[in-house]
This record gives sequence, C-alpha cells and structure tokens, in this order.
Amino acid sequence: MIIKKVDLETVCGITSTLPQNTRPEIAFAGKSNVGKSSLINALMNRKSFARISATPGKTQTINFYNINDEIYLVDLPGYGYAKVSQKEKENWGKMIEKYLHTSKQLQAVFLLIDIRHEPSANDKMMYDWIVSQGCHPIIIATKMDKLKRSQVSKHIKMVRQGLGLLPETRLIPFSSVTKQGREEIWNLVEREILQ
Ligand code: GDP
Repeated sequence: MIIKKVDLETVCGITSTLPQNTRPEIAFAGKSNVGKSSLINALMNRKSFARISATPGKTQTINFYNINDEIYLVDLPGYGYAKVSQKEKENWGKMIEKYLHTSKQLQAVFLLIDIRHEPSANDKMMYDWIVSQGCHPIIIATKMDKLKRSQVSKHIKMVRQGLGLLPETRLIPFSSVTKQGREEIWNLVEREILQ
C-alpha cells in the first residue's frame, strides 16, 4: 500500500455514535503497551501520529484512521490496565462489543501479542472473546526485534500454544523498530481482506 494520505477522522468515546463508514475497516486490539500505536504508525508510515505511550495511557477511545480514502485502520482501546476501575473495564468491553457488532465495514481484526512472553490470561481471554463475537483474529506478534533470530520460531510456537490457535490462524511476527512484517501485513490486507 502506498500511503498518500492519513487522517484521524473519528474518535469515539463510550457515549459516541460510531461512524457509518462506507469503506472497509480493519481493527487492531491488544493489551496496553503491546506496541499497537507503534504498529499503526508503521503501517501509516508516520512517526507519531497514533499516540505512543511510555506509561500506558487511559484514554478509552476508538480511533478511526482514514488511509487514502480507501480503508480505515481502527485503533481499539487497549486492555489490561491495572489502574482502571471496574466501571471503566465494563465500558471498555461494551464499547468494543458495540463496535464489533455494529460495524458494517469491519473486514478483519488483528490481535497484537508480545512475542517475548507467554500470552497472559488477559490475552487468552481477549482472543477467546473476539472469537466468541464471531471474528477470527489474525495475530500479530510484536517486538520481534527484542528476540534473537534463533529464538523466533520457539516463541511463535509459545504464542500459538498459549492462545490455543487453530493451525489455519495466521500469525505475523512484527517489529516497529525494523519494520519487519509491515509488508506482509499490507499484502495480506490488500490481497485477501480487501478482495
Ligand atoms: P500501545 O500501548 O500498545 O499503543 O504501545 P506503544 O506503541 O505505545 O508501545 C509501547 C512501548 O513499546 C513504547 O515504549 C514503544 O517504543 C515500545 N515498542 C513498541 N513496538 C516495539 C517494537 O516493535 N520493538 C521494540 N523494541 N519496542 C517497541
């Protein structure tokens, strides 16, 4: 994908009405700090368009990035903040659920998992929950530059087993530092998802 134009078009909070977009959407979910903003920036060829947090932010919004007036990248709020209240957690669930159920344009959900660690109970719950909502997420295993090349396949296996992925479920290793995996993600989107 040649990025010609990027625009943060809509930001939705818990009480917002979701946009009725007429172009395809692909959504990104993941635990806070997993590297979601960094991935979205890398896909858009931007350095710091999507917010990157050193300390996990608490803004619970769904952000819609319009790419070239062709497709939307949808940044779903991160999960697993230790400090948020029960009420905020509930709102978070409701917001994502509403989006997954009402978007008419959602073509794929990408779930980000840190390749270094065994998926957490939260990650597993999120994966199972997305599946239970009728989606089959594509996994992006982030921060692969933090591993030695020789460790990568072992860690991919660990992530696959930890989440209980089906053999046909796609997993793409990615690094926002080296941009490894970026082309693979866009190719997948252009050749399979947008077709
Ligand atoms: P988010 O909370 O999921 O949006 O995560 P961010 O994109 O804000 O990243 C959280 C932290 O991890 C930041 O300090 C990033 O610089 C770092 N980070 C994100 N992706 C990578 C990556 O691929 N490699 C490395 N080494 N660090 C990363």
